[in-house]
Amino acid sequence: MKPLGLYVHIPFCVRKCRYCDFASWAGRESDMAQYTDVLCKEIAQRAKECGYPAADTVFFGGGTPSLLPSDLYLRIAQTLRQNFSIAADAEWTVECNPGTLTPDFASALYESGCNRLSLGLQAAQPHLLLSLGRIHTAEQAAKAVLLARNAGIHNFNLDLMLGLPGQTEADMRETLDFALSLSPRHLSCYALIVEEGTPLYDDVHTGRVIMPSDDTDRTLYGLCRSILHENGYMQYEISNFAQPGFFCRHNANCWRREEYLGFGCAAHSLWKNERRANPAVLDSYLSGEAPELTAISPEEAMFESVMLGLRLTEGIDENDFARRHGHALMEVYGDRLQPALVDGRLLRQNGHLLLSEHGMDVMNSVLVALL
Ligand code: SF4
Repeated sequence: MKPLGLYVHIPFCVRKCRYCDFASWAGRESDMAQYTDVLCKEIAQRAKECGYPAADTVFFGGGTPSLLPSDLYLRIAQTLRQNFSIAADAEWTVECNPGTLTPDFASALYESGCNRLSLGLQAAQPHLLLSLGRIHTAEQAAKAVLLARNAGIHNFNLDLMLGLPGQTEADMRETLDFALSLSPRHLSCYALIVEEGTPLYDDVHTGRVIMPSDDTDRTLYGLCRSILHENGYMQYEISNFAQPGFFCRHNANCWRREEYLGFGCAAHSLWKNERRANPAVLDSYLSGEAPELTAISPEEAMFESVMLGLRLTEGIDENDFARRHGHALMEVYGDRLQPALVDGRLLRQNGHLLLSEHGMDVMNSVLVALL
């Protein structure tokens, strides 16, 4: 059996960012110890149910994992190691908010075997960070990088955001220059999405905030692509760029629809064609509410493989698709994909089906045909 990916969700934040609809809560530090207890029990229980499988990637996401006290983080890390055989060369990533990383936590990360950090820089301009409700400055991100390096962790990702209200091309260039000056191995450039139920949503719908046009978004995205390409970063997914050999193995495996187990509030798992969704509300998770289990039909599994695989620049390996699903990709989707193949949004190259550069810009128009 192929080694799995392990995901651990830490749902605590200093303050909610204005655009955030992730499962994260501010002001709940007093629940961290109980959360760790419940989480460690879940990890041990699931490992037993799954037969103590091997794992080769670990990803702590959130929320803000770097907000945990070091001793709680180390307890979770130790529980993972006690219950899964984690490969010696496993990729172990922890998301950190630049405003919360301390020397003590950086040492704990190194001690746990963490070898990759993901830092949410988002933008270099104080006014844009402020408008997002972020708690840090760009300078704090630079200090966090230094802290991580001093602790022995040299592989890190920076998250950047594009399509922010008021963000100009000059801002985007400045943010990219700043990010590149820190020599990250990996950069993620995500477009800001206005999610219902967030303060940003209210601001946009009452006209207090004007979102940039699709054309501006596309220009900023194009800028990210060209500047990162010029600087030696390979785009391997719609929003992700890396120096050769440094793509995120954990996320790439998810896009290839490999199996993973997720632990913690709101965490999802994909295991033996079953999706498992843990309670999305912190109190429900803490009170032991059962996860929601959904069997995935063969048709849904094929659809997921296509939706996820097309996000990768390498696309979908057609032989691999046939081996996994027992049907040739074009036998199942050929008719619906034909228009995109004819007009060049989709390409078939070296046994892979992939989006062209233009196809990536208009990915939704390709996916709609599959629905
Ligand atoms: S730090 Fe991340 S998870 Fe926390 S509120 Fe901000 S965007 Fe949400």
